[in-house]
Amino acid sequence: MTNRRAIFPGSFDPITLGHVDIVERAIDLFDEIIIAVGTNADKRYRFDENQRMLFIRETFKAYPSIKVMSYNGLTIDFCKKVEADYILRGLRNPADFEFEKAIAQTNRKLSGIETVFLLTSASTSYISSSIVRDIYLHQGDISSLVPKAVMDLISNS
Ligand code: ADP
Repeated sequence: MTNRRAIFPGSFDPITLGHVDIVERAIDLFDEIIIAVGTNADKRYRFDENQRMLFIRETFKAYPSIKVMSYNGLTIDFCKKVEADYILRGLRNPADFEFEKAIAQTNRKLSGIETVFLLTSASTSYISSSIVRDIYLHQGDISSLVPKAVMDLISNS
């Protein structure tokens, strides 16, 4: 039997309930999902790599088929390294679609790797990490937008 392994790449700065929704709905589609936390030296993050990974690890600690890793460089190179044949992405709106379409087609052309898209749930479609960061920066309440593990870890730090 072939092992269906997908990576779910992103910045996850921080992970939100929108990301959680996509991962939870993808669990039955794949034998293993590696949540791949991108680290780009030129990009400034609100939460550092260790924090972003810890938030995700705590969120999914009860799920044996979900792993968390960090990567830099091309997503398709990371797929090859971990022997994943699929890239999982979420779609929220037409802007996401236009952006993702070009990347997915390029990735398939270069590597044969398929991108699997799940449409956001109506209840989480408005959530984005950038809005969460803005609210957090201004001491607003993000508890309805992020998993409980993020709130617990933030309040202990
Ligand atoms: P990136 O910087 O690569 O866009 P993100 O961490 O913002 O990384 O997002 C990772 C993936 O999660 C993307 O496919 C994005 O479309 C998806 N995503 C983010 N928020 C939501 C949401 N609210 N509903 C569904 N998918 C989402």
